[in-house]
Amino acid sequence: MRIAVHTLGCKLNYSETSRLCADLLSHGHTIVPFDSEADAIILNTCSVTEQADVECRKLVRRGRRTSPDAAVIVTGCYAQLKPDEISAIDGVRAVIGTAHKFSIADRIESLVTAEEVVVDADEIADDVLFQPSRTHRTASRTRTFFKIQDGCDYSCSFCTIPKARGSARSMMRDDVRREVDRIVADGYREVILSGVNLGEYRDAEDTRFVDVLRMIDEDVPPFRLRISSIEPNTVTSELIDVIAASSSIVPHLHIPLQSGSAGVLRRMRRRYTVDYYRSLVNVLHERLPGLALGIDVIVGFPGETEQEFEETYAFLEDAQWSYLHVFTYSERDDTVAATMEQQVDRGVRRMRTQRLRTLSEWKHARFIDAKIGSIAQVLPESYDPLTQMWRGWSEHHVAVSFAGEPDQVKMTYNVRLTERIDQEARGIRIGDDE
Ligand code: SF4
Repeated sequence: MRIAVHTLGCKLNYSETSRLCADLLSHGHTIVPFDSEADAIILNTCSVTEQADVECRKLVRRGRRTSPDAAVIVTGCYAQLKPDEISAIDGVRAVIGTAHKFSIADRIESLVTAEEVVVDADEIADDVLFQPSRTHRTASRTRTFFKIQDGCDYSCSFCTIPKARGSARSMMRDDVRREVDRIVADGYREVILSGVNLGEYRDAEDTRFVDVLRMIDEDVPPFRLRISSIEPNTVTSELIDVIAASSSIVPHLHIPLQSGSAGVLRRMRRRYTVDYYRSLVNVLHERLPGLALGIDVIVGFPGETEQEFEETYAFLEDAQWSYLHVFTYSERDDTVAATMEQQVDRGVRRMRTQRLRTLSEWKHARFIDAKIGSIAQVLPESYDPLTQMWRGWSEHHVAVSFAGEPDQVKMTYNVRLTERIDQEARGIRIGDDE
């Protein structure tokens, strides 16, 4: 069967799509590009965008324009949260919730030929087991996301993820080890460890996230290890010690702040204070000099006053970080925040978002400027035949371009950074890292 797959949303979803595709391939199916003719179309959706339903409908229409007879299967967080809404979309043959995502490959024939729309999106049981999202090798990839943890037991007032993905659960340590070995043997040069709430990783034998990091760092041959987003209250001094002592864990962390206002943080039901976050950032820069720190911020949370936004702005103006991911708050059904009074005017939300994005560009440019002249370890990802340049990512998560041959091996190269161009750097290859 020819199957077209499209993914929306976060890196976890992409990692899970990878496993789904690997499973479909092992069942003898072919994965075709989304806009090619297909017998089935799978949409792996997200619930984070306010426009989830619009996007989903749009993709169903787009897929069926090319393949009018294709059966559409919708899975992912949006399918889990709004199965009835989706099953009513013309052309949808099956709606599969997150707990059953990985059963699709085994039963795709029966889903495609079903006479009636199949809806399989019951509420996720508390004792649901961790479902590994194995990676599979693709020709162009040098880095891969590897999900070792899923679900979340926190109750941030704006978030639907605990409902869409269920409670926290983790991959067993030995399985992590086996999979990392496989990823390395497959030729990947960088692994990004990910999870919904990664710092809360704890397997059935009580292995903690820091133990997993130590294990990979000590036992696996040298390659790059990156930690995806991690909650501030789970960044312990032991974890910082492991990163500081490691030569494979890159000096890059992404730690959501969400708001620099104490009042907003309380209403968001986050598990730390502004003062805690401030001292964490200071400790991180002391212990990990040159660290690249990415921060998530939500703007326009219900009741966020001008004063509270200015507190966030002042906090971020003062703190040391390298880039922001700014999210404009949008109401989600079934969240505490959506029922709060004083929803912020949408125009005000947009203006605040813009101010922080401008601040982010300014700080990111300064971060790159400070690295000019230094040697970065760059893992190339794509080659532009027009400019004859490779583009990839440094250990500090800076996009770097450098001249090279199109058939160059995709491994880490030492590149002296020579100039900044907008939000990226350019450099000259001065030797091989490996
Ligand atoms: S930590 Fe908060 S924002 Fe993150 S997934 Fe859990 S509930 Fe959602």
